[in-house]
Amino acid sequence: MATPETKTTEQERPVQDGRAAEANDAAAEATASLGIEVGDTPYSLELSQDQKDIREWAHGFAEQVVRPAAHEWDEKEEFPWPVVQEAAKIGLYGFESIAQFWADPSGLTFPIVNEELFWGDAGIGMSIFGTTLAVAGIYGSGTPEQMVEWVPQCFGDEKDVKVGAFCASEPDAGSDVSGYRTTAKYDEGKDEWVINGQKAWATNGGIANVHVVIASVDRELGSRGHAAFVIPPGTKGCEQGAKVKKHGIRASHTADVHLDDCRVPGSCLLGGKEKLDERLAKAREGKSAKGQAAMRTFELSRPTVGAQAVGIARAAYEYALDYAKEREAFGRKIIENQAIAFALADIKMEIDAARLLVHRAAWMGKNGKDFEAAEGSMSKLKAGEVAVWVTERAIQILGGNGYSREFPVERMHRDAKIWTIFEGTSEIQRLVISRAISGVHIQ
Ligand SMILES: Cc1cc2nc3c(=O)[nH]c(=O)nc-3n(C[C@H](O)[C@H](O)[C@H](O)COP(=O)(O)OP(=O)(O)OC[C@H]3O[C@@H](n4cnc5c(N)ncnc54)[C@H](O)[C@@H]3O)c2cc1C
Repeated sequence: MATPETKTTEQERPVQDGRAAEANDAAAEATASLGIEVGDTPYSLELSQDQKDIREWAHGFAEQVVRPAAHEWDEKEEFPWPVVQEAAKIGLYGFESIAQFWADPSGLTFPIVNEELFWGDAGIGMSIFGTTLAVAGIYGSGTPEQMVEWVPQCFGDEKDVKVGAFCASEPDAGSDVSGYRTTAKYDEGKDEWVINGQKAWATNGGIANVHVVIASVDRELGSRGHAAFVIPPGTKGCEQGAKVKKHGIRASHTADVHLDDCRVPGSCLLGGKEKLDERLAKAREGKSAKGQAAMRTFELSRPTVGAQAVGIARAAYEYALDYAKEREAFGRKIIENQAIAFALADIKMEIDAARLLVHRAAWMGKNGKDFEAAEGSMSKLKAGEVAVWVTERAIQILGGNGYSREFPVERMHRDAKIWTIFEGTSEIQRLVISRAISGVHIQ
Protein backbone atom coordinates (compact mmCIF):
# COMPACT_ATOMS: atom_id res chain seq x y z
CA MET A 1 0.00 0.00 0.00
CA ALA A 2 1.17 3.51 -0.65
CA THR A 3 -0.24 6.93 0.08
CA PRO A 4 -2.98 7.55 -2.46
CA GLU A 5 -2.32 10.34 -4.88
CA THR A 6 -4.05 13.58 -4.08
CA LYS A 7 -4.61 16.44 -6.40
CA THR A 8 -1.95 19.10 -6.15
CA THR A 9 -3.13 22.68 -5.99
CA GLU A 10 -1.69 25.83 -4.45
CA GLN A 11 -3.69 25.14 -1.32
CA GLU A 12 -3.07 21.45 -0.89
CA ARG A 13 0.55 20.99 -1.79
CA PRO A 14 2.01 17.68 -0.62
CA VAL A 15 5.29 18.05 1.28
CA GLN A 16 8.24 16.90 -0.79
CA ASP A 17 11.22 17.51 1.46
CA GLY A 18 10.91 20.62 3.60
CA ARG A 19 14.39 20.17 5.13
CA ALA A 20 16.15 20.20 1.79
CA ALA A 21 14.62 23.42 0.55
CA GLU A 22 15.97 26.91 1.16
CA ALA A 23 15.02 28.14 4.65
CA ASN A 24 12.36 30.61 3.50
CA ASP A 25 10.86 28.33 0.90
CA ALA A 26 10.82 25.46 3.37
CA ALA A 27 9.13 27.59 5.98
CA ALA A 28 6.52 28.75 3.49
CA GLU A 29 6.00 25.21 2.28
CA ALA A 30 5.58 23.86 5.81
CA THR A 31 3.18 26.65 6.62
CA ALA A 32 1.06 25.75 3.63
CA SER A 33 1.38 22.02 4.15
CA LEU A 34 0.48 22.14 7.79
CA GLY A 35 -2.77 23.69 6.79
CA ILE A 36 -2.29 27.16 8.24
CA GLU A 37 -4.01 28.80 5.31
CA VAL A 38 -7.74 29.00 5.58
CA GLY A 39 -9.89 28.48 2.54
CA ASP A 40 -13.45 28.95 1.37
CA THR A 41 -14.40 25.43 0.34
CA PRO A 42 -18.19 25.00 0.32
CA TYR A 43 -19.49 22.47 2.82
CA SER A 44 -20.56 19.22 1.21
CA LEU A 45 -21.87 15.97 2.67
CA GLU A 46 -20.44 14.15 -0.34
CA LEU A 47 -16.83 13.04 0.12
CA SER A 48 -14.49 13.61 -2.80
CA GLN A 49 -12.90 10.65 -4.59
CA ASP A 50 -9.57 11.49 -2.92
CA GLN A 51 -11.17 11.37 0.50
CA LYS A 52 -12.88 8.06 -0.28
CA ASP A 53 -9.57 6.60 -1.51
CA ILE A 54 -7.71 7.74 1.60
CA ARG A 55 -10.50 6.38 3.80
CA GLU A 56 -10.32 3.00 2.10
CA TRP A 57 -6.53 2.94 2.38
CA ALA A 58 -6.57 3.83 6.09
CA HIS A 59 -9.36 1.30 6.67
CA GLY A 60 -7.30 -1.42 4.98
CA PHE A 61 -4.41 -0.77 7.36
CA ALA A 62 -6.75 -0.68 10.37
CA GLU A 63 -8.38 -3.95 9.35
CA GLN A 64 -5.31 -5.90 8.27
CA VAL A 65 -2.61 -4.62 10.63
CA VAL A 66 -4.12 -2.76 13.59
CA ARG A 67 -7.11 -4.87 14.53
CA PRO A 68 -5.34 -8.25 14.55
CA ALA A 69 -2.72 -6.76 16.90
CA ALA A 70 -5.15 -4.98 19.24
CA HIS A 71 -5.75 -7.66 21.86
CA GLU A 72 -2.09 -8.57 22.20
CA TRP A 73 -0.84 -5.01 22.81
CA ASP A 74 -3.72 -4.22 25.14
CA GLU A 75 -2.82 -7.26 27.24
CA LYS A 76 0.91 -6.49 27.15
CA GLU A 77 0.34 -2.81 27.99
CA GLU A 78 3.35 -1.90 25.90
CA PHE A 79 3.94 0.63 23.17
CA PRO A 80 3.45 -1.15 19.81
CA TRP A 81 6.61 0.02 18.04
CA PRO A 82 6.38 -2.61 15.26
CA VAL A 83 2.87 -1.49 14.34
CA VAL A 84 3.88 2.18 14.30
CA GLN A 85 6.77 1.20 12.07
CA GLU A 86 4.36 -0.58 9.70
CA ALA A 87 2.30 2.63 9.61
CA ALA A 88 5.46 4.59 8.78
CA LYS A 89 6.38 2.13 6.01
CA ILE A 90 3.13 2.68 4.15
CA GLY A 91 3.25 6.44 4.74
CA LEU A 92 0.38 6.62 7.24
CA TYR A 93 2.73 7.79 9.99
CA GLY A 94 5.10 10.62 9.15
CA PHE A 95 5.47 14.32 8.60
CA GLU A 96 4.57 14.23 4.92
CA SER A 97 1.36 12.25 5.30
CA ILE A 98 0.10 14.25 8.26
CA ALA A 99 0.83 17.44 6.34
CA GLN A 100 -1.05 16.03 3.36
CA PHE A 101 -4.07 15.06 5.47
CA TRP A 102 -4.16 18.51 7.06
CA ALA A 103 -3.80 20.24 3.73
CA ASP A 104 -7.20 19.05 2.49
CA PRO A 105 -9.14 22.32 2.04
CA SER A 106 -12.38 20.77 3.30
CA GLY A 107 -10.72 19.87 6.61
CA LEU A 108 -12.27 16.39 6.54
CA THR A 109 -9.38 14.13 5.55
CA PHE A 110 -7.62 14.06 8.92
CA PRO A 111 -10.82 13.26 10.86
CA ILE A 112 -11.68 10.56 8.30
CA VAL A 113 -8.26 8.90 8.70
CA ASN A 114 -8.55 9.12 12.50
CA GLU A 115 -11.97 7.50 12.48
CA GLU A 116 -10.67 4.56 10.46
CA LEU A 117 -7.52 4.06 12.51
CA PHE A 118 -9.37 4.17 15.85
CA TRP A 119 -12.00 1.84 14.39
CA GLY A 120 -9.08 -0.60 14.14
CA ASP A 121 -8.04 -0.06 17.76
CA ALA A 122 -7.91 2.95 20.05
CA GLY A 123 -4.77 2.02 22.00
CA ILE A 124 -2.75 1.47 18.84
CA GLY A 125 -4.47 4.44 17.20
CA MET A 126 -3.25 6.66 20.03
CA SER A 127 0.23 5.20 19.72
CA ILE A 128 0.25 6.16 16.05
CA PHE A 129 -1.43 9.57 16.27
CA GLY A 130 -0.46 10.68 19.82
CA THR A 131 2.49 12.42 18.20
CA THR A 132 0.11 14.84 16.51
CA LEU A 133 -0.51 16.42 19.94
CA ALA A 134 3.10 17.55 19.98
CA VAL A 135 2.82 18.63 16.35
CA ALA A 136 -0.29 20.67 17.18
CA GLY A 137 1.64 22.30 20.06
CA ILE A 138 4.46 23.29 17.69
CA TYR A 139 2.01 24.41 15.04
CA GLY A 140 -0.03 26.38 17.59
CA SER A 141 2.88 28.47 18.91
CA GLY A 142 5.92 27.98 16.67
CA THR A 143 7.33 30.01 13.83
CA PRO A 144 7.43 28.41 10.35
CA GLU A 145 11.17 27.83 10.82
CA GLN A 146 10.55 26.03 14.12
CA MET A 147 7.91 23.85 12.46
CA VAL A 148 10.34 22.85 9.75
CA GLU A 149 13.02 22.07 12.32
CA TRP A 150 10.97 20.16 14.91
CA VAL A 151 7.94 18.55 13.32
CA PRO A 152 9.91 16.02 11.21
CA GLN A 153 11.93 15.12 14.33
CA CYS A 154 8.70 14.19 16.08
CA PHE A 155 8.18 11.39 13.54
CA GLY A 156 11.64 10.17 12.52
CA ASP A 157 11.44 7.97 9.45
CA GLU A 158 10.36 4.44 8.58
CA LYS A 159 13.77 2.98 9.49
CA ASP A 160 14.02 4.85 12.77
CA VAL A 161 10.54 5.73 13.95
CA LYS A 162 10.23 8.44 16.62
CA VAL A 163 7.32 9.89 18.57
CA GLY A 164 6.52 13.29 20.07
CA ALA A 165 4.88 14.20 23.39
CA PHE A 166 2.84 17.20 24.47
CA CYS A 167 3.27 17.88 28.19
CA ALA A 168 0.81 20.33 29.66
CA SER A 169 -1.07 18.58 32.52
CA GLU A 170 0.50 18.38 35.97
CA PRO A 171 -0.31 16.27 39.02
CA ASP A 172 -2.26 19.16 40.57
CA ALA A 173 -3.51 20.87 37.43
CA GLY A 174 -5.33 19.31 34.51
CA SER A 175 -8.51 21.20 33.70
CA ASP A 176 -7.25 24.24 35.61
CA VAL A 177 -4.41 25.28 33.36
CA SER A 178 -3.74 28.41 35.42
CA GLY A 179 -2.45 26.09 38.16
CA TYR A 180 0.65 24.85 36.29
CA ARG A 181 3.74 25.02 38.53
CA THR A 182 6.42 24.13 36.00
CA THR A 183 8.60 27.19 35.50
CA ALA A 184 10.93 28.38 32.77
CA LYS A 185 13.56 30.98 33.66
CA TYR A 186 15.68 32.77 31.09
CA ASP A 187 19.47 32.69 31.56
CA GLU A 188 20.40 35.72 29.49
CA GLY A 189 24.18 35.16 29.69
CA LYS A 190 23.90 31.77 28.05
CA ASP A 191 20.74 32.43 26.00
CA GLU A 192 19.18 29.36 27.56
CA TRP A 193 15.89 28.55 29.27
CA VAL A 194 16.01 26.53 32.50
CA ILE A 195 12.88 24.46 33.04
CA ASN A 196 11.84 22.88 36.33
CA GLY A 197 8.69 20.98 37.22
CA GLN A 198 6.71 17.78 36.84
CA LYS A 199 4.31 16.95 34.05
CA ALA A 200 1.66 14.26 34.42
CA TRP A 201 -0.21 11.92 32.09
CA ALA A 202 1.87 12.77 29.04
CA THR A 203 1.08 10.56 26.05
CA ASN A 204 4.51 9.32 24.86
CA GLY A 205 6.11 11.10 27.84
CA GLY A 206 9.70 9.99 28.30
CA ILE A 207 9.80 7.81 25.16
CA ALA A 208 9.44 10.79 22.83
CA ASN A 209 12.20 12.21 20.69
CA VAL A 210 10.73 15.68 21.03
CA HIS A 211 8.79 16.87 24.07
CA VAL A 212 6.72 20.04 23.86
CA VAL A 213 6.39 21.45 27.38
CA ILE A 214 4.12 24.20 28.65
CA ALA A 215 5.79 26.18 31.45
CA SER A 216 5.12 29.37 33.33
CA VAL A 217 7.48 32.25 32.69
CA ASP A 218 5.48 34.55 35.01
CA ARG A 219 3.34 32.78 37.63
CA GLU A 220 1.52 36.00 38.57
CA LEU A 221 -0.05 36.13 35.13
CA GLY A 222 -1.67 32.69 35.46
CA SER A 223 -2.28 31.04 32.09
CA ARG A 224 -1.32 34.29 30.32
CA GLY A 225 2.20 33.81 31.66
CA HIS A 226 2.63 30.43 29.94
CA ALA A 227 4.97 29.63 27.08
CA ALA A 228 5.61 26.50 25.04
CA PHE A 229 9.10 25.01 24.70
CA VAL A 230 10.60 22.27 22.61
CA ILE A 231 12.88 19.92 24.53
CA PRO A 232 15.31 18.54 21.93
CA PRO A 233 16.18 14.83 21.83
CA GLY A 234 18.50 13.68 24.61
CA THR A 235 18.35 16.89 26.65
CA LYS A 236 19.76 16.42 30.17
CA GLY A 237 17.22 16.95 32.95
CA CYS A 238 14.19 15.68 31.02
CA GLU A 239 13.34 12.20 32.30
CA GLN A 240 10.38 9.87 32.30
CA GLY A 241 8.72 9.40 35.69
CA ALA A 242 6.16 6.73 36.60
CA LYS A 243 4.39 5.02 33.71
CA VAL A 244 0.61 5.08 34.24
CA LYS A 245 -1.24 1.75 34.48
CA LYS A 246 -4.48 2.48 32.71
CA HIS A 247 -8.13 1.39 32.44
CA GLY A 248 -8.07 1.60 28.63
CA ILE A 249 -5.93 2.55 25.60
CA ARG A 250 -3.36 0.37 27.29
CA ALA A 251 -1.14 -0.02 24.23
CA SER A 252 -0.47 3.70 24.29
CA HIS A 253 2.25 4.98 26.61
CA THR A 254 1.28 7.51 29.30
CA ALA A 255 3.78 8.74 31.89
CA ASP A 256 4.96 11.54 34.14
CA VAL A 257 7.83 13.66 32.87
CA HIS A 258 10.32 15.23 35.28
CA LEU A 259 12.12 18.42 34.33
CA ASP A 260 15.08 19.10 36.62
CA ASP A 261 17.21 22.10 35.69
CA CYS A 262 16.49 21.16 32.11
CA ARG A 263 18.40 23.65 29.93
CA VAL A 264 17.33 24.31 26.36
CA PRO A 265 18.67 26.86 23.86
CA GLY A 266 16.81 30.18 23.59
CA SER A 267 15.64 29.11 20.13
CA CYS A 268 13.52 26.35 21.74
CA LEU A 269 10.99 28.89 22.97
CA LEU A 270 8.14 28.42 20.48
CA GLY A 271 7.27 31.68 18.78
CA GLY A 272 10.49 33.39 19.93
CA LYS A 273 11.47 35.74 22.78
CA GLU A 274 10.36 38.97 21.14
CA LYS A 275 6.82 37.75 20.69
CA LEU A 276 6.74 36.38 24.23
CA ASP A 277 7.96 39.70 25.70
CA GLU A 278 5.30 41.60 23.76
CA ARG A 279 2.61 39.24 24.96
CA LEU A 280 3.75 39.43 28.60
CA ALA A 281 3.92 43.23 28.47
CA LYS A 282 0.33 43.37 27.21
CA ALA A 283 -0.81 40.95 29.89
CA ARG A 284 0.91 42.99 32.63
CA GLU A 285 -0.83 46.14 31.38
CA GLY A 286 -4.07 44.22 31.70
CA LYS A 287 -4.76 44.42 27.97
CA SER A 288 -6.89 41.65 26.57
CA ALA A 289 -4.90 38.61 25.52
CA LYS A 290 -5.58 36.63 22.37
CA GLY A 291 -8.30 34.68 24.11
CA GLN A 292 -10.06 34.00 20.82
CA ALA A 293 -6.82 32.70 19.28
CA ALA A 294 -6.24 30.24 22.11
CA MET A 295 -9.84 29.12 21.99
CA ARG A 296 -9.54 28.72 18.25
CA THR A 297 -6.53 26.41 18.61
CA PHE A 298 -8.48 24.09 20.89
CA GLU A 299 -11.57 24.27 18.72
CA LEU A 300 -9.42 23.27 15.75
CA SER A 301 -8.00 20.13 17.37
CA ARG A 302 -11.17 18.89 19.05
CA PRO A 303 -12.96 17.58 15.93
CA THR A 304 -10.05 15.23 15.25
CA VAL A 305 -10.24 13.91 18.80
CA GLY A 306 -13.99 13.52 18.30
CA ALA A 307 -13.40 11.55 15.09
CA GLN A 308 -11.32 9.05 17.08
CA ALA A 309 -14.25 8.48 19.44
CA VAL A 310 -16.58 8.03 16.45
CA GLY A 311 -14.23 5.30 15.18
CA ILE A 312 -14.42 3.40 18.49
CA ALA A 313 -18.21 3.73 18.62
CA ARG A 314 -18.57 2.50 15.05
CA ALA A 315 -16.36 -0.52 15.73
CA ALA A 316 -18.53 -1.53 18.72
CA TYR A 317 -21.73 -0.92 16.76
CA GLU A 318 -20.65 -3.07 13.82
CA TYR A 319 -19.58 -5.87 16.13
CA ALA A 320 -22.84 -5.75 18.09
CA LEU A 321 -24.96 -5.65 14.90
CA ASP A 322 -23.26 -8.73 13.45
CA TYR A 323 -23.52 -10.53 16.76
CA ALA A 324 -27.23 -9.73 17.13
CA LYS A 325 -27.89 -11.18 13.68
CA GLU A 326 -26.16 -14.44 14.64
CA ARG A 327 -26.99 -15.01 18.30
CA GLU A 328 -30.16 -16.95 19.06
CA ALA A 329 -32.30 -16.92 22.21
CA PHE A 330 -35.86 -18.18 22.63
CA GLY A 331 -35.64 -19.80 19.20
CA ARG A 332 -34.97 -16.62 17.23
CA LYS A 333 -32.13 -14.25 16.42
CA ILE A 334 -31.83 -11.68 19.17
CA ILE A 335 -32.08 -8.85 16.61
CA GLU A 336 -35.67 -9.93 15.95
CA ASN A 337 -36.53 -8.45 19.36
CA GLN A 338 -37.36 -4.75 19.18
CA ALA A 339 -35.39 -4.14 22.37
CA ILE A 340 -32.21 -5.12 20.54
CA ALA A 341 -33.10 -3.77 17.10
CA PHE A 342 -34.23 -0.39 18.45
CA ALA A 343 -31.09 -0.12 20.56
CA LEU A 344 -29.04 -0.64 17.39
CA ALA A 345 -31.15 1.93 15.53
CA ASP A 346 -30.47 4.49 18.27
CA ILE A 347 -26.79 3.60 18.31
CA LYS A 348 -26.47 4.11 14.56
CA MET A 349 -28.31 7.44 14.75
CA GLU A 350 -26.11 8.73 17.59
CA ILE A 351 -22.91 7.76 15.77
CA ASP A 352 -24.03 9.52 12.60
CA ALA A 353 -25.03 12.61 14.61
CA ALA A 354 -21.61 12.66 16.29
CA ARG A 355 -19.84 12.31 12.95
CA LEU A 356 -21.84 15.15 11.43
CA LEU A 357 -20.84 17.43 14.32
CA VAL A 358 -17.21 16.36 13.87
CA HIS A 359 -17.23 17.04 10.14
CA ARG A 360 -19.00 20.39 10.57
CA ALA A 361 -16.43 21.58 13.11
CA ALA A 362 -13.50 20.27 11.04
CA TRP A 363 -14.80 22.12 7.98
CA MET A 364 -15.41 25.31 9.99
CA GLY A 365 -11.88 25.20 11.42
CA LYS A 366 -10.24 24.75 8.03
CA ASN A 367 -12.37 27.41 6.39
CA GLY A 368 -11.85 30.12 8.97
CA LYS A 369 -15.39 30.20 10.35
CA ASP A 370 -15.91 31.60 13.85
CA PHE A 371 -16.75 29.00 16.45
CA GLU A 372 -19.57 31.13 17.83
CA ALA A 373 -21.20 28.27 19.72
CA ALA A 374 -17.95 26.39 20.41
CA GLU A 375 -18.76 23.90 17.68
CA GLY A 376 -15.36 22.21 18.08
CA SER A 377 -16.10 21.49 21.73
CA MET A 378 -19.58 20.30 20.79
CA SER A 379 -18.12 17.74 18.41
CA LYS A 380 -15.67 16.34 20.95
CA LEU A 381 -18.24 16.30 23.75
CA LYS A 382 -20.87 14.53 21.69
CA ALA A 383 -18.49 12.00 20.15
CA GLY A 384 -16.84 11.12 23.47
CA GLU A 385 -20.13 10.60 25.23
CA VAL A 386 -21.56 8.64 22.30
CA ALA A 387 -18.52 6.35 22.32
CA VAL A 388 -18.94 5.57 26.03
CA TRP A 389 -22.68 5.01 25.66
CA VAL A 390 -22.44 2.91 22.49
CA THR A 391 -19.70 0.65 23.81
CA GLU A 392 -21.68 0.06 27.01
CA ARG A 393 -24.78 -0.78 24.93
CA ALA A 394 -22.68 -3.11 22.78
CA ILE A 395 -21.61 -5.05 25.88
CA GLN A 396 -25.30 -5.38 26.82
CA ILE A 397 -26.15 -6.71 23.36
CA LEU A 398 -23.42 -9.33 23.63
CA GLY A 399 -24.57 -10.36 27.11
CA GLY A 400 -22.02 -12.43 29.04
CA ASN A 401 -19.71 -12.53 26.05
CA GLY A 402 -19.68 -8.73 26.04
CA TYR A 403 -18.16 -8.75 29.49
CA SER A 404 -15.41 -11.16 28.48
CA ARG A 405 -11.94 -10.06 27.42
CA GLU A 406 -12.20 -12.63 24.61
CA PHE A 407 -14.63 -10.28 22.82
CA PRO A 408 -13.45 -6.84 21.70
CA VAL A 409 -16.35 -4.69 22.89
CA GLU A 410 -15.10 -4.98 26.49
CA ARG A 411 -11.81 -3.40 25.40
CA MET A 412 -13.60 -0.79 23.32
CA HIS A 413 -15.65 0.26 26.34
CA ARG A 414 -12.54 0.64 28.49
CA ASP A 415 -10.86 2.56 25.69
CA ALA A 416 -13.80 4.88 25.02
CA LYS A 417 -13.95 6.31 28.53
CA ILE A 418 -10.86 8.45 28.18
CA TRP A 419 -12.60 10.47 25.44
CA THR A 420 -14.76 12.12 28.13
CA ILE A 421 -11.65 13.02 30.14
CA PHE A 422 -8.63 14.03 28.08
CA GLU A 423 -8.36 16.97 25.70
CA GLY A 424 -10.82 18.73 28.03
CA THR A 425 -13.30 16.78 30.14
CA SER A 426 -16.98 16.69 29.22
CA GLU A 427 -17.65 19.23 31.96
CA ILE A 428 -15.02 21.59 30.55
CA GLN A 429 -16.54 21.24 27.05
CA ARG A 430 -19.95 22.15 28.51
CA LEU A 431 -18.34 25.13 30.22
CA VAL A 432 -16.85 26.31 26.93
CA ILE A 433 -20.11 25.82 25.02
CA SER A 434 -22.28 27.47 27.67
CA ARG A 435 -19.95 30.48 27.88
CA ALA A 436 -19.90 30.78 24.09
CA ILE A 437 -23.68 30.69 23.69
CA SER A 438 -24.48 32.90 26.70
CA GLY A 439 -21.63 35.36 26.85
CA VAL A 440 -21.79 34.78 30.60
CA HIS A 441 -18.69 33.66 32.51
CA ILE A 442 -20.28 30.44 33.81
CA GLN A 443 -18.29 28.91 36.71
C1 LIG B 1 -4.65 8.40 29.08
C2 LIG B 1 -4.42 9.84 29.27
C3 LIG B 1 -3.65 10.55 28.37
C4 LIG B 1 -3.41 11.89 28.57
N1 LIG B 1 -2.56 12.55 27.69
C5 LIG B 1 -2.19 13.82 27.97
C6 LIG B 1 -1.18 14.45 27.19
O1 LIG B 1 -0.64 13.88 26.23
N2 LIG B 1 -0.78 15.70 27.54
C7 LIG B 1 -1.34 16.35 28.59
O2 LIG B 1 -0.94 17.50 28.85
N3 LIG B 1 -2.30 15.78 29.34
C8 LIG B 1 -2.72 14.53 29.07
N4 LIG B 1 -3.67 13.92 29.85
C9 LIG B 1 -4.25 14.65 30.98
C10 LIG B 1 -5.71 15.05 30.74
O3 LIG B 1 -5.77 16.05 29.76
C11 LIG B 1 -6.30 15.48 32.09
O4 LIG B 1 -6.44 14.31 32.89
C12 LIG B 1 -7.65 16.17 31.92
O5 LIG B 1 -7.48 17.43 31.32
C13 LIG B 1 -8.39 16.35 33.24
O6 LIG B 1 -7.57 16.94 34.20
P1 LIG B 1 -7.45 16.29 35.66
O7 LIG B 1 -7.19 14.86 35.48
O8 LIG B 1 -6.51 17.09 36.45
O9 LIG B 1 -8.91 16.44 36.28
P2 LIG B 1 -9.44 17.66 37.17
O10 LIG B 1 -9.18 18.93 36.45
O11 LIG B 1 -8.94 17.50 38.54
O12 LIG B 1 -11.01 17.40 37.14
C14 LIG B 1 -11.62 16.43 37.99
C15 LIG B 1 -13.13 16.47 37.73
O13 LIG B 1 -13.63 17.77 38.06
C16 LIG B 1 -14.30 18.33 36.95
N5 LIG B 1 -14.08 19.78 36.93
C17 LIG B 1 -12.92 20.46 37.07
N6 LIG B 1 -13.13 21.77 36.96
C18 LIG B 1 -14.46 21.94 36.73
C19 LIG B 1 -15.30 23.08 36.53
N7 LIG B 1 -14.81 24.31 36.50
N8 LIG B 1 -16.61 22.86 36.33
C20 LIG B 1 -17.12 21.61 36.35
N9 LIG B 1 -16.38 20.49 36.53
C21 LIG B 1 -15.07 20.67 36.72
C22 LIG B 1 -13.67 17.66 35.73
O14 LIG B 1 -14.52 17.72 34.62
C23 LIG B 1 -13.47 16.25 36.25
O15 LIG B 1 -14.68 15.53 36.16
C24 LIG B 1 -3.96 12.58 29.66
C25 LIG B 1 -4.76 11.87 30.57
C26 LIG B 1 -4.96 10.54 30.42
C27 LIG B 1 -5.78 9.80 31.45
